Amino acid sequence: MAIFVMSELSKFMSEDFGQGDAHPQIKKVHAAPADGSIPGAPGDRTLCGKPTAAMERSDYSPPEPGSPWLPPSMRPWTCHQCDAALQAP
Ligand SMILES: [Zn+2]
Repeated sequence: MAIFVMSELSKFMSEDFGQGDAHPQIKKVHAAPADGSIPGAPGDRTLCGKPTAAMERSDYSPPEPGSPWLPPSMRPWTCHQCDAALQAP
């Protein structure tokens, strides 16, 4: 099963940090199944049911079968619902 790594970004910018930090912050990293009708595109919803339209797609794909579905650098933001869905037998 092809899995797309989708970053849910926070559009909220704290006004306390007025240093021009325009980088959106990652809130959660979700997994989305492939859309069966569009090759190479994620489906409308992540495995936990959130819409993928507002998320940023990562180019990451596991280097080998059995590797973690998301890159180690994104692990702190793992969506545990998506993670659990992928771990399920
Ligand atoms: Zn999720």
